[in-house]
Amino acid sequence: LAQWDKQYVWHPFTQMKDWLEEEIIIVARGEGVKLYDTEGREYYDAFSSIWVNIHGHNVKELNDAIIDQLGKIAHSSYLGYGNIPATLLARELVEIAPPGLVKVFYSDNGSTAVEVAVKMAFHYWRQCPNPRPEKNKFLTLMNAYHGDTIGAVSVGGIDLYHGTYRDLLFPTIKVAAPYCYRCPFGAKAGQCEKECEQALEKAFAEHAHELAGCVIEPVIQGAAGMITQPPGYVKKVRELCDRYDVLMICDEVATGFGRTGALWAVNHDGVSPDLMAISKGLTGGYMPLAVTLATQKVYDAFYGDYAEMKTFFHGHSYTGNQLGCAVALASLELLKKHNLVTEAARKAGVVKKVLAEFNELPHVGDIRQAGLMVGIELVRDKLTKEPYDWQEKMGIKTCLAARKKGLITRPLGNNIVFMPPLVSNDEQLQEMLEIIKASIIQVTE
Ligand code: PMP
Repeated sequence: LAQWDKQYVWHPFTQMKDWLEEEIIIVARGEGVKLYDTEGREYYDAFSSIWVNIHGHNVKELNDAIIDQLGKIAHSSYLGYGNIPATLLARELVEIAPPGLVKVFYSDNGSTAVEVAVKMAFHYWRQCPNPRPEKNKFLTLMNAYHGDTIGAVSVGGIDLYHGTYRDLLFPTIKVAAPYCYRCPFGAKAGQCEKECEQALEKAFAEHAHELAGCVIEPVIQGAAGMITQPPGYVKKVRELCDRYDVLMICDEVATGFGRTGALWAVNHDGVSPDLMAISKGLTGGYMPLAVTLATQKVYDAFYGDYAEMKTFFHGHSYTGNQLGCAVALASLELLKKHNLVTEAARKAGVVKKVLAEFNELPHVGDIRQAGLMVGIELVRDKLTKEPYDWQEKMGIKTCLAARKKGLITRPLGNNIVFMPPLVSNDEQLQEMLEIIKASIIQVTE
């Protein structure tokens, strides 16, 4: 298998060459918060298999939901036809969504859910009751990651994903994102909210006339390096969107489903966006499925005939797939049954306590956390905050060291990600963090 993998497979993100040059690990099965490879070795899944498996692996209730649905039908067209689990799931999602989000548009992955939201917002201003076609740009955060399709990359900002394709992307208005540890406005950590908000105010004031929407990943920017926003930042974005008539688009692909200790990250600020993209935890990591939630106001602008070009021209072969929707329903049921959102908030406290010990490590510069979403930033010099050169690959090296100690996670540049399944118990959380700590010490000292 290892040889065939090398011969036939094009793995995603081949900048992770170092990864591939190591012995390839072929996952054979999973159980709870653990993964097992073909050699029978055991690993903690400390990043929930790219932030999706909130209930861990091989979960009876989720397995049963798929098996049960398989006995009925696996897939049928959603193009003008409904199906049972997709309708039930839409109803359930609207019930638990931030208030005002009342329509569910299905797609297959997080990038597409964002892309759909961006297309909807762009299209909206062309045919809403008072059309303003000049509103055709998006305000985005400079370091954002929203996925890999061309639209999602356009509203992102990480050069690694952006650079090569620049000529292919549509331009956006970019505003510096909060990053308290390395404040882009030169303010001191803890005294920087004003600077962030002023930057937003300025961007909105200057560009509102041409802004269709503002895209943000609320509370914590995951793939950007687990960068937290000061409290009230999301609320400020909402206020400015209202003041300047701009659609607020929240990307909760990573932060949704309890990950930050609230069902949705926007709940921390008591805010409802106009469009919201969700995926990852939606099916508990069992099937690729995504949703773009929209308000009635946005939806109503699309009601019309093909001939009027009012229709939202976007749809996928697997839209509303029954297996995905059935397992998503079961996942939501588990979330409720085990009180996982409240539990995630409690477990975040346990994690925070253990992480406090990381502060004594000479090469841990910053630790950022929102619930069970954690980034540990490694630095060459703790006093000056001098970062390691990107080429030194300290993040990759640390994750590879952790892997040899029986834990799988991912780096984001010099940041180590810790995003365990929400069901991890206190002891497992502690053990995972101990392995990460030992790996950091091994690589940096
Ligand atoms: N938005 C955010 C915030 C994400 O973290 C990701 C995935 N890491 C995406 C969008 C893209 O999701 P997918 O990989 O499922 O396309």
